[in-house]
Order: sequence, then structure tokens, then C-alpha cells
Amino acid sequence: MSPGVTVHDTLARPLRDLRISVTDRCNFRCSYCMPRDIFGSSFVFLSRSDLLTFEEIARAARLFVANGVEKIRLTGGEPLIRRDLERLVEMLAAIDGLRDLTLTTNGSLLTPEKAQSLRAAGLQRITISLDSLDDAVFRAMNDANFPVAAVLEAIDAAATAGLAPVKIDMVVKRRINDDGVLDMARRFRDSGHIVRFIEYMDVGNTNGWRLDDVVSAREIVERIGREWPIEPAEPNYLGEVAERWRYLDGAGEIGVIGSVTRPFCGTCTRARLSAEGEFFTCLFAGRGFDLRGVLRSGTPDQEVLSAIANVWRLRADRYSEIRSEATRGTRKVEMYHIGG
Ligand code: SAM
Ligand code: SF4
Ligand code: SF4
Repeated sequence: MSPGVTVHDTLARPLRDLRISVTDRCNFRCSYCMPRDIFGSSFVFLSRSDLLTFEEIARAARLFVANGVEKIRLTGGEPLIRRDLERLVEMLAAIDGLRDLTLTTNGSLLTPEKAQSLRAAGLQRITISLDSLDDAVFRAMNDANFPVAAVLEAIDAAATAGLAPVKIDMVVKRRINDDGVLDMARRFRDSGHIVRFIEYMDVGNTNGWRLDDVVSAREIVERIGREWPIEPAEPNYLGEVAERWRYLDGAGEIGVIGSVTRPFCGTCTRARLSAEGEFFTCLFAGRGFDLRGVLRSGTPDQEVLSAIANVWRLRADRYSEIRSEATRGTRKVEMYHIGG
């Protein structure tokens, strides 16, 4: 099947990115994503047979690429929990027309060997989440008592393996870790890595989100700019979610993702596939399209291709632009379910 016939939605946004969640499980319990009181020992996760197989994921991915997708990000849950992930990476890297293959992880399972084998399988880049350099704050935020030092080792392992530039994502929550913004910027200036500061979002319905807990992109930029002067840099491509800022002294760049205060729905080109094969056209959607049902019913490629195209053509999502008291109460898919 020839790649690259791009489908557009009702707002003329092309389908360009696909985020694939390979598991709904995670070894962390970040309070903003999988609060332990809800995702405790009695929580029922998907069973193995519910999950898309690697063959099903690779087939779906190939058909997304044939509809215009150029970039795939593997995510979760914690994607490195899924066994033999290298095998999936290898299958995806072989898809004709795919330009960028990357992964988001909490870094806890990213040993030097794992980083090398993911790179060898064809992974190009990696994003590692790290919310604080203060060990006590970080352990409290991941609620799994996981230390900062181990994530810093994972960052080094990724860079050594050539998964560069490594991006480091910090979700900023007021009064929880926002006093660590400057430390994070300082630590990774001149490192070749790119720190991205993310506004805390109202994803899902379980994290008890309040606007008051959000530190705006503007405030983050002001705080960092007061310490080290910065200037805006051009986006790398249409639909890039992070605003780029460059240090004037040449120490590299940072990114700021203002999902709440600076919504970017107008250029949102992202589709998401959950671990059990639901196709979502928005991070804040209540329901997705059952692609697994289509994949498991003997449907030929051409029809799966059309099914994907038809869902995207009908897409009108712009949740972040119309976020209000009214939308806040609506039922939304959880972040651990479809990834960031
Ligand atoms: N477990 C992996 C990790 O943490 O990197 C991948 C999945 S996680 C859902 C992807 C990203 O979403 C992480 O960087 C995480 O910090 C971010 N995230 C989760 N909940 C969020 C929220 N409520 N607001 C902003 N970002 C969030
Ligand atoms: Fe796990 Fe990532 Fe969610 Fe934290 S943000 S609970 S590491 S899936
Ligand atoms: Fe895209 Fe939905 Fe986020 Fe808007 S709210 S940027 S449409 S995922």
C-alpha cells in the first residue's frame, strides 16, 4: 500500500501523528495520572487478550501511515512494561513512509542495555518524564518511592545509546513541584537535552484537577527568562505542541507546553490508539472508535484504511479551545489509557 495520502478533518487538519499506547499498566502512581486511591490493588487492568498484539499494532500503524501519519510515539501506561517491545519497534521502523519513531517513558526500566536494544531495533528518539530533581518531591509525586538518581541514569543511558536529543518532560503543579522549575532548567542547560515544562492538564476524571494548580506557560517562561534571558524559536514543524525558547547565551533550548492556557487545537494533527485498540481523535474524548473489532473481523486492508480515514474526516475536536465549567464535568478517557 502506498504511503502518504493525507486525510484531513472537518477543520482541515491533516492526520500526521499517531500515539500508540502499548499497555494500560504502570509501575508509578503519579497523582495527576493514576492516583493510588483509585488505581490501587483492586483496580482491574486490561487482560492480555484485550491488548492489541504487536502484529495488530503494526498493521494498524501501516494503515495510519498510508493515511498520512509520519510520526509515531509509543506510550502507555509505562510502555517499557510491555515485554519484547523491541520486536514492535523493529516492525514499526520497517514501515515505508514513517519518518519519526519515538517513545515516552518514566525511565524506571530504561537500563543501558534496554536503551541500546531499542536503538538497535530502530527507535530514533526518546522522551523521559521527570517531575523534580528533589528526591523527596519526586518520590512523593511518583508515589512508588522511585528515586531521581535512577531516572538521571536512564537519561544518560538514552543519550549514550544515541536516542538524541533526549527530551525531559516535567509536569508542573503549583505548590507541589513548581519551586523546582529553575533547578530543572539549570541542570539541563548546556547538556544537549531539551527540558519541556508541561502545564498540568484536566485529563480524565480522576485526578481532581483545579485551575488553581496550573502554573501557566507564561509564568514558567518569565521565571526562567529572569534567570537566563531567552528568546522564542520557530516551531520545527506544523502542529508542534511545545513552544520553543532558546537561551541567548547559547546554552540550548527549552520547551513549554501550554495545553491549558495556550491551546493548540487549531494545528492538532494527533491520533491516539489505546492499548485495546480504540482509536481516539482527541486526548479529551469520551469514547473512541473500536479499531480492534475491525482488525479482528477479517477486514481487508483497504477497508481498514477507509475506516481510519472516515473517522478522521468527521473529526471536529477542539476540547482545549472550548474548555469551560461545562466541559470539565464531561466523561473523558484517562491519560494512562491512551498515553500523553
Ligand atoms: N509512563 C510514561 C511516562 O510517564 O512518561 C508514558 C505515559 S504518560 C501518561 C505520558 C506523559 O503524560 C508523561 O510525561 C506524564 O507526565 C504526562 N501526564 C500525565 N498526566 C498528566 C496531566 N494530568 N497533565 C499533564 N501531563 C500529564
Ligand atoms: Fe505512569 Fe506515566 Fe501516568 Fe506516571 S504519568 S502514572 S509514569 S503512565
Ligand atoms: Fe488536540 Fe484535543 Fe488536545 Fe485540542 S484538546 S490539542 S484537539 S488532543
